[in-house]
Amino acid sequence: MIVILLGPPGAGKGTQAQKIQTAHGLVQLSTGDMLRAAVAAGTEVGKKAKDFMEAGKLVTDEIVVGIIADRIEEDDCKQGFLLDGFPRTAQQAEALDNMLNHKNLNLDAVIEMKVDDEALVDRITGRYTCANCNQGYHEVNLKPKVDGVCDNCGSTNFNRRADDNRETVSSRLESYHAQTAPLLPYYETKGVLKTIDGMADIDGVTSQINDVLGSLA
Ligand code: AMP
Repeated sequence: MIVILLGPPGAGKGTQAQKIQTAHGLVQLSTGDMLRAAVAAGTEVGKKAKDFMEAGKLVTDEIVVGIIADRIEEDDCKQGFLLDGFPRTAQQAEALDNMLNHKNLNLDAVIEMKVDDEALVDRITGRYTCANCNQGYHEVNLKPKVDGVCDNCGSTNFNRRADDNRETVSSRLESYHAQTAPLLPYYETKGVLKTIDGMADIDGVTSQINDVLGSLA
């Protein structure tokens, strides 16, 4: 199964992808995670992407298309994958269509997570992750069971993303509305778009996604 999670920054794509990937045997492919790893490792891709990311701007299509094209050739993607944060522009969507056609694969669903813009700022500025296992948390909506200790691995070290601040959020939302939202009619025409209510609580969103994936299986 090949599925895209589409929604604005802070809609919960990463949180949901982590929760559903194991249950459905899909590999989460997050271009944001891959780019952050490249920046941290100081690779050529990371050096090119860093300034765009810190300013809340999209990195070039060429870079992200190259990353995804390489990644879907790996063995673990044979069982299916869940795209989180890709595609984000018309050129990326076309490049993905070409890659899938070339491999004789079909896109099964594009799940739009619909969230009000006003909710996104609080979601983004309050979120952080475990520095060891990358489990996501939020200051208000999703605290660890024991304060300061990761539920998943017990680590006491946490990270915040450099771009999760008020200044870059508005730029990231602008990019979403100008460049990514126009993909919704594109996928609707293809008959693969499924829209869910991303304002529901985390488990409520997961259950809507499970319903969509269940209807495809
Ligand atoms: P995310 O973790 O998906 O919010 O992505 C973080 C940042 O990485 C974005 O604000 C962009 O700068 C960059 N990025 C991630 N995915 C893409 C993409 N598909 N196209 C362009 N830039 C991307």
